[in-house]
Amino acid sequence: MSGKRGTRRWLGRHLADTWVREAGARGYRSRAAFKLAQIDDAERLLRPGATVVDLGAAPGGWSQVAAERVGATGRVLAVDVLEMAPLPGVAILQGDFTDPAVRDALAGQLPDGGAHLVMSDMAPNLTGVKDTDQARAAELALAAMDFAVRALEPRGAILLKVFHGRSMQDLVREARGRFRSVKVRKPEASRARSAEVYLLGKGVSGIF
Ligand code: SAM
Repeated sequence: MSGKRGTRRWLGRHLADTWVREAGARGYRSRAAFKLAQIDDAERLLRPGATVVDLGAAPGGWSQVAAERVGATGRVLAVDVLEMAPLPGVAILQGDFTDPAVRDALAGQLPDGGAHLVMSDMAPNLTGVKDTDQARAAELALAAMDFAVRALEPRGAILLKVFHGRSMQDLVREARGRFRSVKVRKPEASRARSAEVYLLGKGVSGIF
């Protein structure tokens, strides 16, 4: 390994460990909490009183940050196929988001006007086969986008984990058809070598 590459890898691991330690020190259940906090510091998505849907929420780092920031007048609805330990200010629904019954149950818990933010950090279990993994991740992202346009209030937003690769441009194009403004964010707490980025869409412009 070349000196430069080795240094970059070391730096990447070192920073990752820093976020893990920091998460422990602040009582967050995952280092992922900082990814949401950093995006929200720049974008102000988690306003006091907001209703937020957290897809793929376990173990709960994003839900913790969301609950802190929307405060006692807000609501966080968390969904995961895995069991998630209770969190103050967070309603937890255990189930597979791709199951229509789970999506209906979730939709039934939303206020009449709709949610302010749908966020998804969902990632499929990896098979190791790159094309299969990318296709499954894209399917999940598309399902989250379809749900979001129905669940959001007109000025609401979606924050969606997507992965660099073949399907990324298709997902960005799909998002541009559904939301008024679309951008892609890579928070500092996301490992530089990870293919993950976050697509942010604001203002619902179409239902498909
Ligand atoms: N944002 C979380 C946090 O801050 O703690 C971490 C989320 S983790 C990267 C991805 C999660 O997506 C996993 O807990 C996984 O069980 C969940 N997931 C993947 N596919 C799902 C599906 N079809 N329905 C619900 N949850 C799913």
